[in-house]
Amino acid sequence: MHNPYRVIVAGAGLGGLALAHGLRNQGLDVAVYERDAHPGARPQGYRIQLDEPGLTGLEHCVSPPLFRLCLATAGSPPARISVRNRHLDALADKAALRGSPAGDGQGPLAFNRPTLRQVMLAGLRDHVHYGARLTAYRHEADGTVTAHFADGRTASADLLVGADGVNSTVRRALLPEARIEDAGLRLIYGKVPLTGSARADVPPWVFDSIFTVVTGGPGHPHVGLGPVEFNARPEQAGPAHVPPVALSPVDDYVACMVGAPSDHPAVPPFEVLRALTPAQLRDVTREVLVGEWHEDVHHLLDLWDTHSLFALRISTAVPVPAWESRPVTLIGDAIHAMSPVLAMGANTALRDAGELTHAIAGAVGRGERLVDAVRAYENRMTDYAFSIVTDSRRTGQQRVGQRWIPPAESPLIGQGYMSLWSGV
Ligand SMILES: Cc1cc2nc3c(=O)[nH]c(=O)nc-3n(C[C@H](O)[C@H](O)[C@H](O)COP(=O)(O)OP(=O)(O)OC[C@H]3O[C@@H](n4cnc5c(N)ncnc54)[C@H](O)[C@@H]3O)c2cc1C
Repeated sequence: MHNPYRVIVAGAGLGGLALAHGLRNQGLDVAVYERDAHPGARPQGYRIQLDEPGLTGLEHCVSPPLFRLCLATAGSPPARISVRNRHLDALADKAALRGSPAGDGQGPLAFNRPTLRQVMLAGLRDHVHYGARLTAYRHEADGTVTAHFADGRTASADLLVGADGVNSTVRRALLPEARIEDAGLRLIYGKVPLTGSARADVPPWVFDSIFTVVTGGPGHPHVGLGPVEFNARPEQAGPAHVPPVALSPVDDYVACMVGAPSDHPAVPPFEVLRALTPAQLRDVTREVLVGEWHEDVHHLLDLWDTHSLFALRISTAVPVPAWESRPVTLIGDAIHAMSPVLAMGANTALRDAGELTHAIAGAVGRGERLVDAVRAYENRMTDYAFSIVTDSRRTGQQRVGQRWIPPAESPLIGQGYMSLWSGV
């Protein structure tokens, strides 16, 4: 199938790549522009947990063989979320069975983010332009949009989609009133390798759940742990795929992060924190976790691969009222950044990609304008996504000291969202 519409996607993150697959599979002419010089230009994190919304969105966008490769290169830890106190007493232990689009009771999956991105780049390489930072866009008289890039390039299309993450240039231009807030949380994020005999050194309770939070209590530091043990080695599963996909070798690991409120006495201002070496970051975590933390927690931090450590500031979007739809729209963190406490940011970005693809396919099929599809997508997206942003804030505030803005100040709160932490 071919139709004449051209779409520019700004940003080759999980959301942008999924959308590019989805729209190309509908016959649209899609070009992705990514500011990074190449896919491995900067650390992008390690583990990513996908549940039903993300897996369904991904399945709607990529081809069935590529979806199978995504699943094959994930891990399937026990479908439970555990919350423990600093002495490792269980505070909550909940089934996490939102995973499977087929509704077959399969739980969420643990992906290695760089592997997932490599899989999603398959078939798109000629359509993703690296070293292309979008700086501005302009609406033309004929209804098209012209995108401008930092190197002087321009490109025009019938639709521009900002999939350019939390500091989105597209959002700033489209919705200058939309605010992104510092959630008041800092993370030091790294990997505990599971190579060779190393797995036996990791306390067994870490493998009982897809994610475990060891919390010092509201407003206090916490430690997050998520095992990633691949169902199939990516470097073997990729070449076995038809057509073959080259995937980098990666060993099993436990994603391990230490979080603390930004005003914790051991945590320097973020500009200082992010300039620290990995060894210095490790020292910061030792100061953050002083006091009575179970010896297993200290042991886990001893097992950290120091070189894998980097610092993150957590941001969150403030929901905005409905806006007039145009041939420019937003998906993913560009419109609904949220703290990772519910592990729903990428899930929602992938859902957006699936929803926008579905809306555009429907509009094209009915002979409607693209902007009608954008309106239908935005109406749905603001409803489901802003409610998750709010739920993430609430849970983050209750559990890890995230700052909280009451819902009354967030005008577009949608339907309730079932939190895995609720009732904890
Ligand atoms: C520690 C941590 C753990 C997380 N764990 C999970 C999890 O388990 N499950 C989950 O669902 N979510 C998780 N999240 C959230 C998830 O990482 C994000 O929600 C997700 O990456 C958003 O995808 P995106 O495609 O919208 O944006 P991004 O992944 O941020 O991609 C945006 C892309 O746009 C590019 N870009 C930016 N500006 C421009 C520009 N001007 N021009 C061109 N390109 C540009 C960027 O370089 C980037 O490649 C986690 C987040 C953190 C911080």
